[in-house]
Amino acid sequence: MSVRSEFDYQRFVVQSNLVYIGSLLATSLYMIVFWIIGNPILPWTSLVLLVINAFVVWINPKRPSLASFVYITTMSLHGVFLITQLGVTSGFDFFLFNLAGLIMFTDWKAYWRVLGVLAEIVLMILAYAILNQQGLQFILTPAQSFSFLIVNTTINIAGIANSVAYFRNLVDQNTTRLIDLSITDPLTHAFNRGYFDVKLAEELTRIERHASPLSIITFDLDLFKQVNDKYGHPVGDEVLKQLVNIAKGTVRNTDLLFRIGGEEFVLMLPDTNGSGAFVVARKIQRALRQNRHPIAGTYTASFGIAQFRRGETKDTFYQRADHNLYAAKRGGRDLIISDDADILVPLEWDPQWESGHPRIDAQHKSLVEFSNSILHAQAEELLPMTKRLAAMVTAHFADEEKILNEIGFPDASHHHAIHQTELGKATLLLERADVSSKAVFLFVLNNVVIDHMLDSDVDYFPILREYLKNKAL
Ligand code: GH3
Ligand code: MG
Ligand code: MG
Repeated sequence: MSVRSEFDYQRFVVQSNLVYIGSLLATSLYMIVFWIIGNPILPWTSLVLLVINAFVVWINPKRPSLASFVYITTMSLHGVFLITQLGVTSGFDFFLFNLAGLIMFTDWKAYWRVLGVLAEIVLMILAYAILNQQGLQFILTPAQSFSFLIVNTTINIAGIANSVAYFRNLVDQNTTRLIDLSITDPLTHAFNRGYFDVKLAEELTRIERHASPLSIITFDLDLFKQVNDKYGHPVGDEVLKQLVNIAKGTVRNTDLLFRIGGEEFVLMLPDTNGSGAFVVARKIQRALRQNRHPIAGTYTASFGIAQFRRGETKDTFYQRADHNLYAAKRGGRDLIISDDADILVPLEWDPQWESGHPRIDAQHKSLVEFSNSILHAQAEELLPMTKRLAAMVTAHFADEEKILNEIGFPDASHHHAIHQTELGKATLLLERADVSSKAVFLFVLNNVVIDHMLDSDVDYFPILREYLKNKAL
């Protein structure tokens, strides 16, 4: 059974059961009414119909085709009988019209449905013919006839509206499902590339009218091929899913995440400028650092950011973000590169950065101070000042390494390795002509100064403090 027919089957059973149970109640009521008005045959035929109707309700969940066949056949034949007994002025002929519509609900083959409708037409003509030949079998008072007409009109118009509502909901739900499937990546449930193209075009038209900013972040897992090679493709798939959950957990509801290629993603951030996008990328980067996959361990990603500029096309805008991503890869990975982020927020000294060691604290403080002075630097001063910042960091790392060896910090070699990696990346970026000075500065500021103090240095602070306390005694 295909996905679609499985889906329709459930709904069909629920919906048809409503019709059958409604019919069961109506038939019971009519049986009593026919008995009260003194018709000699209809109470008994109604009773037979009632028993069959109960059987239909019972069998419907297991054999919906059979149930609908039995129901429609018996109701139609009884309809003909009612018409010959009570005439067309009481509205019993409406039921045959409704049953013809009900045939279209069934899961019968198309030609059976057509035959079914033809049979309803034949039965209706037959009823009229009998009526014509024999006249009415039972005469109702005008008041009785009118009461039947009102009730039958109500039941049948409501029934038709209900059928149409059912089909409409079915179509709406199937359409929604199809649209969801067509725009979603089945592995990660991020949106797919096709939808990215559509949505980007839509957003660009929107911001043209509203003049609000739009930024995108392209990001790609670092050395992901190694994850697949080492742990296998299924683990790689899990990592991709985990990455999507982390990214989705970090962003706003209005932000959209797309899987553009194998392990490349784009975040679309409406009403967000380059600086805002930078903050978002930083959040994901930091979330990834704190995350640990049970098999693959920690992994990183590289990020390229672009804020839309007037005059850009959809393609040149995306290419600029992609170019920045490429620069981040070339710059040593686990990097965020943006050519238009304006992160001009001065750093405040955070008391948790206080180690207690006078030289380390003095150096850390002067790194923060000097970084703040760069925030106000002229464009042409940016590169030389960033180089000086990198030189200060290098000197500080050398001092710090010496002190860590002195106090016997057990993780010293790991800490030195981190220093080497970060300095290596900074050196690489400083040499690249296609990466803006601002991007290099942002890297040194965020990854080397802030993250290093926040994530790595705090590890040795307790041991350093202990050492200083013992020394003072
Ligand atoms: P880089 O840091 O330069 O991006 O290195 P990389 O290894 O991530 O990049 P590369 O483009 O060489 O390899 C991408 C790999 O992503 C290749 C492929 O094995 C893997 N990949 C792509 N799509 C899927 C996927 O759906 N599932 C899994 N498990 N792996 C995928
Ligand atoms: Mg990759
Ligand atoms: Mg330090």
